[in-house]
This record gives sequence, structure tokens and C-alpha cells, in this order.
Amino acid sequence: MTGKHCIVVGSGIVGASVAWHLVAAGARVTILEAAEVGGLATRDSWAWINASWGNPEPYFRLRLRSMQEWQRLQREVPGLGLDRCGGLIWDLPPDQLEAYAQEHGSWGYDLQRVDAAQALQLEPAIRNAPDFALYAAQEGKVEPLVATQALLAAAHGLGATLRTGMQATALARHDGRVHGVRANGALLEADEVVLAAGTGSAPLLAGLGLHYPIHAPAGLLVHSKPTRPLLRKLLMAPGLHVRQTAEGRLVAGADYVGSIEGQDPAQLAHTLFSKVRALVAGADALEMDFFTLGHRPTPGDGFPLLGRPGHTAGLYLAVTHSGITLAPAAGRFAAQELLHGVRDPLLSPYHPDRLLQPAPAA
Ligand SMILES: Cc1cc2nc3c(=O)[nH]c(=O)nc-3n(C[C@H](O)[C@H](O)[C@H](O)COP(=O)(O)OP(=O)(O)OC[C@H]3O[C@@H](n4cnc5c(N)ncnc54)[C@H](O)[C@@H]3O)c2cc1C
Repeated sequence: MTGKHCIVVGSGIVGASVAWHLVAAGARVTILEAAEVGGLATRDSWAWINASWGNPEPYFRLRLRSMQEWQRLQREVPGLGLDRCGGLIWDLPPDQLEAYAQEHGSWGYDLQRVDAAQALQLEPAIRNAPDFALYAAQEGKVEPLVATQALLAAAHGLGATLRTGMQATALARHDGRVHGVRANGALLEADEVVLAAGTGSAPLLAGLGLHYPIHAPAGLLVHSKPTRPLLRKLLMAPGLHVRQTAEGRLVAGADYVGSIEGQDPAQLAHTLFSKVRALVAGADALEMDFFTLGHRPTPGDGFPLLGRPGHTAGLYLAVTHSGITLAPAAGRFAAQELLHGVRDPLLSPYHPDRLLQPAPAA
């Protein structure tokens, strides 16, 4: 059924993708944003689009599908800026890197084993090229805020309304069905409410007695001043992930989540930046401009929460880590489920209620 009125809470990349897919499929869409348009975690993301190591096969398959959905979106949404530049990875010991190549290769991930000479051909700017690395040609990146703004603009072009300064404070429920959102003292009615509010989703759900663990670990990224083109690829070196942005900044984290593990942020930023200088030829005189500290919305088990929380009619939850990679699939699948009642099989392991917790004792 189309013609539904859907309220999407949150204008980060996940909310923007859900909103665009809903409005493109014929729904009437209102996006509510409490803070800055374009999200919180989203603007501070490293934005590597990948299905890389360390994940079980079902999650790999969801990520791989979303990488394909990025290419579709790139054709459908002007100004998205998807750059399938490829990723060169050697952030594991060689035996583990080889195990990753074998496992993910058997799952259909396109990984090429490269030696130091081949690594340098792919990325001439590496100092001390590794003897063994893997090259994933289909991996890529976006500038996360640019891509999110492009999705929001395209959704607006199709008729979606973006309301800023709108803090959702409660979900309105009657006879077991959510029928709207309270924001800025008013009740906004809708056929469906989608919570894509990142770490802001848990308190709204708790108001209905639905408790989910959604954590907000900090992640730090250092940004150089803009410079001439130095890097072609995403580089995942031990203890340092670095890429170059569209405006020419080198942006780096200690790993792809930019974990800070209790370290002093300013100190960590300077340490990281010296590693950038050591790794990238031509970056010797480059200056650090600033660092960012983002907070990743992270469900308790690390996997997405996509579906109707508590099987509540009128309500959908879309919260995930790796939201840059997963936004296109999350948006497409959420719209399909909300408008046509069809749940994609790739979402089977990711229904929110696997993490539904009893109410905390008073
Ligand atoms: C340092 C770092 C590195 C990362 N690297 C990668 C990576 O390489 N690849 C990858 O795929 N992912 C990466 N991620 C994760 C990715 O950035 C996030 O998963 C993604 O941005 C989450 O998007 P979101 O829209 O769910 O959340 P957000 O961007 O946080 O957006 C949520 C929005 O909801 C709004 N909101 C909250 N509560 C309310 C309310 N009550 N009413 C109205 N609005 C509300 C907020 O203001 C915000 O705008 C990284 C994250 C960080 C921090």
C-alpha cells in the first residue's frame, strides 16, 4: 500500500535513506530533526563502504548487498558522490589476512592478493609497502554529509518535508498501535513512525516500555589541511586507516571505527597524525587541521536493529552501526516492509526483538 503518511525521526544517513526510499515508493514523508540536518554520527564518520573481515556470513551478505545498493542509489540520486576507489588492506597479520581472503573469497568477495610492488602500483604514495596485502576493488567511500544532504534534497524534490528544530519527545500509542510523535509540544499523526534517531532512539522506545541496548562508543578521526591529491585508495594499515576526502584532506582513524579506548583524545590525535605522515609519502609537511569525536549508534550485539520493535503496529526501528555502508539496504528494505509488508530475508537475523530487554527495576 502506498499513500501512507510516514514520519521519519532523524536526518542522518539512515533516516535520509529510509525517507528517500519511502517517498520514491509513493509514501507521504515528514522527517523530524532535533539538531543539525545530516545527522550526528554521520558527519563524523570515516565512511568506508565495505563488507570486510570480522563478520559472520549473514552480516557479510547484508553488507555486500548494500554495497550493490549504493551503486543503484548513485544512479538514482544526483550528487551522492559514491567513489568506488577500492581498498588496500594489511591491518591483520599475514596468516589472518590469508584466512580472511580464503573465507570471504569463498563467499564471493572480490579480493586480490598483492605483493609490495603491486601495492605500490595501486597506491604509489605508500611508504614501506607491505609484502602481502589484499585489494578489494569494489570497496569505496562517500563524503557522508554530502551524500546525506543529497538524499534529503532528492527526498524533498519528491515531496518529503524536512522539519528542523523538532525534538521528538514521545511516541503516541493507542490500542497497541503507534499513531504519531509528540514533538515541540504538538502531536504529529502518522500511519507509520520510523525511528532513525541513532542513539536518540532508545529513550523514545523506553517511553513505550520497550528497552533495547543501544550504546554510543566514541570514535576519533584526525583531519589534515586540504592538500594536493596524494591517495587514490582507502588504506587499512595496522593501527591506521587513512583516506583522502573530496576536498583533499587526509582523514584517519586508528581503525575503521576510530576507537579511542579511554585515551586522551588530543594526544591520540597527534599520535595518529604522526602515523599518517610516516605512512603517506608526500605528507611530511602536512599539518593537522582538527580532530572529530563522533559517537556511533551501536546495538548491544553490534548488529543492526531493523524491524518493528515489540512487533508494534505503526512503528519501525532503523538503528545500526556501519550505517554508511548499510544505509541503502536499510532504506530500501524498511520501505518495502512498511509499504508492502514484505520483509527481506537478509534482515532475518536483525529483528530488534532479539535484544528486547525487560524493563529495568524501579
Ligand atoms: C569515527 C566513526 C567512524 C565510522 N566509520 C564508519 C565507516 O567507515 N563505515 C561505515 O559504514 N560506518 C562508519 N561509522 C558508523 C556510521 O557513521 C553510523 O552508523 C551512521 O552515521 C549512523 O547514522 P544514523 O543516521 O543512524 O545516525 P546519526 O547520524 O547519529 O543521525 C541520527 C539523527 O537523529 C537525530 N535525533 C536523535 N534523537 C532525536 C529526537 N528525539 N528527535 C528528533 N531527532 C533526533 C539526531 O539529531 C541525528 O541528526 C563510523 C562512525 C564514527 C563515529
